[in-house]
Amino acid sequence: MTELESLGLAEQAKPSGARIGAGRPSVDVKARTGAYVLAVDLRVDGLTVARVGLGGVVQARATGPVPAGHDPEAIASSVVELMRLVVKDVDPGAALVGVGVGVPGIIRAEDGLVRLAPNLGWRDVPFAKILASRLGPVAAPVLGNDADLGALAEHLRGAGVGVEDLVYLSGEVGVGAGVIVSGHKLEGAGGYAGEIGHMPFLPDGKLCHCGAHGCWETEIGAEAIALAIGCPPERVGALGEFLEGVHDAPDDLRLVGRHLGRGLAGVVNLLNPRVIVLGGYLRSLFPLVHDDVESELAVHALIAPRELVRVTLPGLGGDSVLHGAAELAFEPLLADPVGCLAVACVDVDAALAV
Ligand SMILES: [Zn+2]
Repeated sequence: MTELESLGLAEQAKPSGARIGAGRPSVDVKARTGAYVLAVDLRVDGLTVARVGLGGVVQARATGPVPAGHDPEAIASSVVELMRLVVKDVDPGAALVGVGVGVPGIIRAEDGLVRLAPNLGWRDVPFAKILASRLGPVAAPVLGNDADLGALAEHLRGAGVGVEDLVYLSGEVGVGAGVIVSGHKLEGAGGYAGEIGHMPFLPDGKLCHCGAHGCWETEIGAEAIALAIGCPPERVGALGEFLEGVHDAPDDLRLVGRHLGRGLAGVVNLLNPRVIVLGGYLRSLFPLVHDDVESELAVHALIAPRELVRVTLPGLGGDSVLHGAAELAFEPLLADPVGCLAVACVDVDAALAV
């Protein structure tokens, strides 16, 4: 019996055998009573908040717009409003054990400082602190890069279960990569690895939000896709619906597909992944330009790694980042159940009323 089971929090299903993050064995835990986390997927064009139980069970969810101008204080307030909605009918005895937030930017792990989120216009924004000031000490939020969290979740419960070498691409307004190599997350010296959207791609390309010209994301990100199908810039938040209405990809969209395939060839050559998962808007784009992506891969990826890779859609649909944020929030509980529950918050109304 595990510590979680002895505390009456969970009954353990069969272990999946997959490994995540820093090599922690993944445990498929079924929730029995109520330890839960609040998971936040903060995107440039929308907010999703969910109450998630052990084993990745989404118990309640709420979505909302991102306040205009991407003001961090206003976004934190919107997040807390959505949190109130998802805890409205929570079991009175259930314990909130963590808050995890996926952010499309470069995060300093130790204090949740957002060093750079170019598409939010954020530079050195202490978003963990700003959100924490609204939540009280029992629900200190932990921030993670959206693509890293997508990779974590797909590795644990999605298209990458049992796969030790995986790349998850978050295709939003910006494009990032979460990379798992030999079962371990690729971090880099400062934890900032994976900013593949800013890979120099076209010598005289468009101006990127990061300040450089010709980054890969200016050719395959949401704004490029929107331009290719005539979706007005102010409707980029509804790009998924626009893409669903496209049946024959116009030439401009097929060019986006070829740019996607050519960049992916670089990923294949550099990292030799077994699986590449296309998240965000790339999920809706890929079926429309599949042949263009594959033809560029065939030309530019080296045959040996090319033979081993599978480009696929997320197993968790549009929820990869949300599930990753939940996993991040559960980490303290899984590492130290007794210590974590000692400070867990049962009176969630009080926590959110601060
Ligand atoms: Zn850039």
